[in-house]
Amino acid sequence: MSEGASVQQVVILGATGSIGTSCLRVLAAHADRFQAFALTAHARWRELALQCHEVCPRYAVLTGVQAEDVDRSAFPTTTEVQFGRPAAEELVRHPEVSTVVSGIVGAAGLHATWAALEAGKRVAFANKETLVIAGPLVMSLAQRSGAILLPVDSEHNAIFQALQSGRHSEVSRIILTASGGPFRDWSRERLEAVTVEQALAHPTWDMGPKITIDSATMMNKALEIIEARWLFDFPASQIDVVVHPESIVHSLVEYRDGSVLAQMSPPDMRLPIQFALSWPDRLEGTSPRMDFTQPLNLRFLPPDPDRFPALTLGYEVADRGGTSGAVLNAANEVAVERFLQKGLRFTDIPRLCRSILDAHTFDSAPSLDELLRLDHWARQEAIRW
Ligand code: NAD
Ligand code: MG
Repeated sequence: MSEGASVQQVVILGATGSIGTSCLRVLAAHADRFQAFALTAHARWRELALQCHEVCPRYAVLTGVQAEDVDRSAFPTTTEVQFGRPAAEELVRHPEVSTVVSGIVGAAGLHATWAALEAGKRVAFANKETLVIAGPLVMSLAQRSGAILLPVDSEHNAIFQALQSGRHSEVSRIILTASGGPFRDWSRERLEAVTVEQALAHPTWDMGPKITIDSATMMNKALEIIEARWLFDFPASQIDVVVHPESIVHSLVEYRDGSVLAQMSPPDMRLPIQFALSWPDRLEGTSPRMDFTQPLNLRFLPPDPDRFPALTLGYEVADRGGTSGAVLNAANEVAVERFLQKGLRFTDIPRLCRSILDAHTFDSAPSLDELLRLDHWARQEAIRW
């Protein structure tokens, strides 16, 4: 969209989450460009009602509570409140909507993201799980419908930016940075005894609980390797991971001549969200800037798959494709939930995932229905594990 273009009508899926609230701040900073058309949330209706008073969307959707459990008068009279997943899926298809922000966590985000892609919208997606589950199907759907898929995940947003400097065939590798999480330097013995509270304290990013645990196990990086594999169409062998504790360089692209292009900025999700909304334009930024008046040390360290075996799973699944992403994702979602409920040890998360992945019947070219069936199967297995 260029100057003078009309205001983009935006649906935010998962508005009450970490991505959703950052997105609302971007919309508020650029009210001349973006208008919230609809906000969705799962259960936290009071928070959603407050957000509706701030941005006055035409619709609000709650997917995890019934109408009788919600005080309708908490919402502005100008916002129509709807209930259930089909309502959210219908709204993302609305002809007035141009942009959908996919900020739901987990496989639960797949259906509405799929609906937005089918309807040919611009989809700013944070919900990496959708690509992990069904990468090839998602990419071909977007191609058929003309939908534009723009990554919000800071690493993929950085790679997307760095890829503008050369051709796909000129890239030798893409390099995902990882903060390393709170246990970067911990020994295997210490990792066995990690508590929920320790795992929820991320050193550089303030995010929802699921991705925070994923960052601590480095499963988040595994999911991001798979996300990058499908989104940018590079084989796993061209995707590297480097630990970068400061979270300033958000990822890098190396070209065949040896040039490495990095995207840098202080860690703040408003920047990648805004870029995904405004691309190909760049708007005035509202998040903190790099301050080069102070000394700055940046470290880059090799990852350790022995202490963080999730990384190996990520490479394996990115390489294998087929049904393996759906199975890994579902197993991990259940494992994280069980860990958060204190029913599983931290180091059991990748062990559980490995065991379910190895037990499943692999298919190299599954349909979406088959993937959803396997998602269900893997969850049942992971509950029993
Ligand atoms: P969060 O837990 O803070 O928020 C999740 C949102 O999804 C909430 O609005 C919640 O109401 C909604 N939701 C939860 N379960 C749902 C369900 N079953 N059906 C419908 N809606 C549901 O999560 P988050 O940290 O904002 O992460 C959202 C997504 O973005 C994840 O896929 C995550 O991996 C990705 N992501 C997040 C960050 C970050 O900084 N938080 C960075 C990169 C990628
Ligand atoms: Mg990320």
